[in-house]
Amino acid sequence: MPTTLHSDIEYLKGVGRARGEMYRRLGIESPYDLIYHIPRSYLDYRTHVPIAQAELGQYNVLKLTVTHKLPPQRIRGGLVICKAGATDGIDDILIVVYNNVYAFQALKENSTYYMYGKVMGNFLRKEISSPTYIKEEESVLIQPIYPLTQGLSVNMVRTNMRQALSIMHSEPFETLPPQILQKYGLCPLMTALEDIHFPRSEESAEEARRRLAFDELLKLQLGMSMMKRRSRKETAYSMDSSVDVSEFTGGLPFELTDDQQKAVGEIVADLCRAVPMNRLLQGDVGSGKTAVAAAACYFAAKNGIQSALMAPTEILAAQHHRTLADFLEPFGVRVCLLTGSMTAKKKAATREKIAEGQFDVIVGTHAIIQKDVEYRSLGLVITDEQHRFGVAQRAALAEKGESPHKLVMSATPIPRTLALMIYGDLDISAITQLPKGRRPIKTYAVTGKLRHRAFGFVRDRLAEGRQAYVVCPMIEETESELHAVRTYAENAAKEDLKGCTTALLHGKMRAAEKDKVMKRFRDGEIQVLICTTVVEVGVDVPNAAVMVIENAERFGLSQLHQLRGRVGRGEYESSCILITDNTSEECVRRMKIMSSTTDGFKISEEDLKMRGPGDFFGSAQHGLPPLKIADIACNMELMNRAQTCARELLEEDPELSKPEHTPLKMDVLRLFNKDIIG
Ligand code: ADP
Ligand code: MG
Repeated sequence: MPTTLHSDIEYLKGVGRARGEMYRRLGIESPYDLIYHIPRSYLDYRTHVPIAQAELGQYNVLKLTVTHKLPPQRIRGGLVICKAGATDGIDDILIVVYNNVYAFQALKENSTYYMYGKVMGNFLRKEISSPTYIKEEESVLIQPIYPLTQGLSVNMVRTNMRQALSIMHSEPFETLPPQILQKYGLCPLMTALEDIHFPRSEESAEEARRRLAFDELLKLQLGMSMMKRRSRKETAYSMDSSVDVSEFTGGLPFELTDDQQKAVGEIVADLCRAVPMNRLLQGDVGSGKTAVAAAACYFAAKNGIQSALMAPTEILAAQHHRTLADFLEPFGVRVCLLTGSMTAKKKAATREKIAEGQFDVIVGTHAIIQKDVEYRSLGLVITDEQHRFGVAQRAALAEKGESPHKLVMSATPIPRTLALMIYGDLDISAITQLPKGRRPIKTYAVTGKLRHRAFGFVRDRLAEGRQAYVVCPMIEETESELHAVRTYAENAAKEDLKGCTTALLHGKMRAAEKDKVMKRFRDGEIQVLICTTVVEVGVDVPNAAVMVIENAERFGLSQLHQLRGRVGRGEYESSCILITDNTSEECVRRMKIMSSTTDGFKISEEDLKMRGPGDFFGSAQHGLPPLKIADIACNMELMNRAQTCARELLEEDPELSKPEHTPLKMDVLRLFNKDIIG
């Protein structure tokens, strides 16, 4: 039987058990998977420079003729070093190859090569170490760089790739109908797959990447839209529109903003329909999403329906529980908290009451979606800071109700196109204005030299009765980082914050301890909370009006914005001081943006510009199927086009059931790895 695209990868020539295992480690099980193993980037050997112009300490491409090879030297530890003299016709250089006799043997004296490697040395004597190279007479001077694994080399991949591609040509396929290729100016799929691995030119590699990225984005869009349509067919509990939600909103201690009001209206309208709501409530930090969620819970409760609100951390769950209880209990709506860290006895008692319907609103962490929690009438499910939950968790929660109405709240103000990509299966309500009377947070970026003065400023604000956060980055939550934060807190208590009451808060503390510290901070017993990014999401203490962020260079723009959103939540003028000694261009730019605006949308757009949309897809926070090509190659324009194309296709053929759409439909199903259509 001839080897086909879907045969086992080991059927390819030269691939045995061992190499097969290496491929499988990269998720490659068949020749088909291999041709979709997309190069990360390309090495362009045409960019070669004369030796005299090579940048020392950097990777350079040189065009070198090997003049004389020296015998291999063995040094201790079994290491072998091979050296050869070479020239570019003007200057000489030494080629040094460590521990790879095989690669060295392939080099021939008096032959010319393009070589890529790190150039070291000085003005007089230079060497290039362990270069990768191709022969001068090679016809294409662009070579793919693949994600590889231990033991697998570019050359092995290239050899196997050639065979896989020739199999492909014997089983021709195409996923898009010709009129789409034409309309969107895309090259045929097989051309793209050939060119991405063996580009004929830089342009052809670019064209190939564009086509493959388009495919991926299109499939994502199609899958999302189909999921959305499917959920439209489910039936949910349709609530009674005569329940008056303004009895609740009118009784709040503040007046809702127009956007909040509008969001409440949209949600209530959704809840009154028999198709499940699937809505994203998007609003910048501090825009008041919780009050909107509370209104939705009120409306459901007065309809005799239970609501569940899921938060990403215990701190946040506890805070939501308190806020919702304060808002709702005066109206006879019963709110409870259920988290993993409660005692078994307490949990069991709470679960029993939930099952009996003695609670209307259940707030918690992911504990509330575990199998052993039974609801009496769950009809509304709210997740806060949804970008922290994956699709799987959302789905698990959805199983608790018949087909509950779903509301997800997010403070990540991503541009609309991207929101549609990531939350393509959702409708969107946006809160774009902050509540009245908020004063913009003043932000300053300073170097460590000014730390002392910065803390002088903090002490002044404390003397006025305000409270402060000091954020220390703890990226990996390792013991040593924890140690650093503890030491920092101790020193601060002795020096800059002498005489102030301080407390430490970090993610490794037990839930009960965290709660206690948060409670004391909220009650004003603690003036300064020295903390890690556990305060990043959601924490709401309006009297806290100053934030100091240490090592600010270690945070991305969006994260800085989230952190900063912990202050400026009340009537007081608030400030944020970013401390960093990093003077890299990128860091300086980030600090400038932070100091010049508090608009979350602007910040996330800048973030997007600096990092590229790939980072959003790559971050794995959204629970989407992984994207391989779009991740690297996509840009906003391509996303817009893929979106338009998806819309047109589904208008013409909602189930993609026409024969010319079958390959595409199969691909969509494969990407989402489940039955999303029907
Ligand atoms: P976020 O959208 O970041 O979750 P919150 O819901 O925590 O914001 O609200 C931030 C603060 O603003 C809370 O203290 C809340 O009580 C208050 N708040 C919400 N809506 C209004 C409003 N319309 N007017 C005044 N304050 C409000
Ligand atoms: Mg919030």
